Amino acid sequence: MSTEGMLIDGRFLAGEAGSRPVTDPATGETVGEAPEASLGQVSQAIAAARRAQPAWGQLAPLARGQIMQRIAGLIRRDAEALAMLVVREQGKTIKEARGEIGGASAFFDYFAEFARRIQGEILPSDFAGEQIWIQRVPVGVVGAIIPWNYPAALVSRKVAPAMIAGNTIVLKPHEDTPLSALHMARLFVEAGLPAGVVNIVTGRGETVGEALTESSDIDLLTMTGSVPTGKRIMARAAQNLTPVSLELGGKAPFIVMQDADLDLAVRSAATSRYMNCGQVCICNERTLVHASIFEDFVDRFIAHSRTLKVGLPLDEATDIGPKFSRAELEKVEAMVAEAVAGGADVRLGGTRPTPLPTPGGHWYSPTVLTGLKPDMPILTHEIFGPVVPILPFHDLEEAIAISNQSRYGLSAYLFTRDMPTIMKVINELSFGEVYVNRVGPEALQGFHVGYRDSGLGGDDGAHGLEAYLRKKTVYLNYSGGATAPLMPY
Ligand code: NAD
Repeated sequence: MSTEGMLIDGRFLAGEAGSRPVTDPATGETVGEAPEASLGQVSQAIAAARRAQPAWGQLAPLARGQIMQRIAGLIRRDAEALAMLVVREQGKTIKEARGEIGGASAFFDYFAEFARRIQGEILPSDFAGEQIWIQRVPVGVVGAIIPWNYPAALVSRKVAPAMIAGNTIVLKPHEDTPLSALHMARLFVEAGLPAGVVNIVTGRGETVGEALTESSDIDLLTMTGSVPTGKRIMARAAQNLTPVSLELGGKAPFIVMQDADLDLAVRSAATSRYMNCGQVCICNERTLVHASIFEDFVDRFIAHSRTLKVGLPLDEATDIGPKFSRAELEKVEAMVAEAVAGGADVRLGGTRPTPLPTPGGHWYSPTVLTGLKPDMPILTHEIFGPVVPILPFHDLEEAIAISNQSRYGLSAYLFTRDMPTIMKVINELSFGEVYVNRVGPEALQGFHVGYRDSGLGGDDGAHGLEAYLRKKTVYLNYSGGATAPLMPY
């Protein structure tokens, strides 16, 4: 059992609103206990971040970067323990959890490199003896809210850019996956981070999350999660004109042209769907295959899917772990039932596996559906599970039209060898990320950005860092003489 306190102002505290059990999606067993913050504790965390910000923002960026490199090293030191926590609270396979922790440390290393790269601009003045410049300054206090599907990596994705920019942070993990974030909080302190720079408060979205979004003392809200929650957060943030950055859901099309390397396309479509049991915002959610190779693709995809092992996430041979929760499992089952009622053919799976790997886990078999129409809910709503709807198309125009017919606009995939096709798809797909002949994950130096309901803003790389900085324009008269006339024109 893992029981950690919340990090507020450099101290580890129990929750004044009690605690909540954390359960293992593979067994249903309780594996930890997490504090439930009171609204007063949320206010204390925000106040601590506010107090800590001026000194942290004035520290030389290189000094901030050195602490971040120490954090990256400590995450690497504790990598196996952190990966185990991620498996226990979230249910992804141990292989995937190790990858997640690798990412969690890489974000700190990567953003530490920006210590010497946050730059401004010098502009000519309209007057002699004057200089104008625009400098980048921290936004101040950042409120960060993250989901359950990457409970450790998303801590780093939010905290690392906020820190190097000179901000202080109050972060809320998902209420059901707080353990890895709370372990990371210990590492932040061990690395020598001053009190108040990072505060981690745990608890439910409707209480702790809303307290963050309603605060008038937060300068930026960055949230990763579902579309409905994103919209709710934005509406509340509007009351204080707090800027928001929202990384929301996806419904990625995965287009396979007739000239694609079919083996690569099949393996990639499977990887991109089944990773983390289908619970990734950039997952292949709609496989679109040229009609001339449709049945061949489906047969190969099913054959490949049958080789994948559904089982206990700590078993190194497991490819697909459990769904995250009972509610998530039942949501996927309902979506499949609805598709079947609408005429879909179940070509593989469509049920919980027999025998179940454990009686208490949230298991679902890899499932392949065909016989679909583009407007069916299974092709328009995020599934977030190991279910693969495969749809034929007859020409590229049709594939592009189906792909763009979506409220989501995060990632898209294309498999072809034909350069004019590649360029046409890149030009005409209305998605923030296009992967050609490869799958994710996205790169640290890229820009993870969704169009339409998939979000607002974007994470990662130099463009992601921009959200954590604001600009200040300085007009300096160094002439020693008269000030400029009011209007030069
Ligand atoms: P969710 O929206 O239910 O929860 C996300 C976070 O918001 C949690 O910490 C939750 O406690 C909090 N929250 C809930 N209600 C709130 C409220 N009223 N006010 C403030 N905070 C509140 O999402 P989830 O189920 O945890 O995550 C799955 C979703 O996240 C999927 O849609 C997935 O596509 C998306 N996601 C997107 C990205 C991306 O980068 N675009 C990455 C990972 C996950």
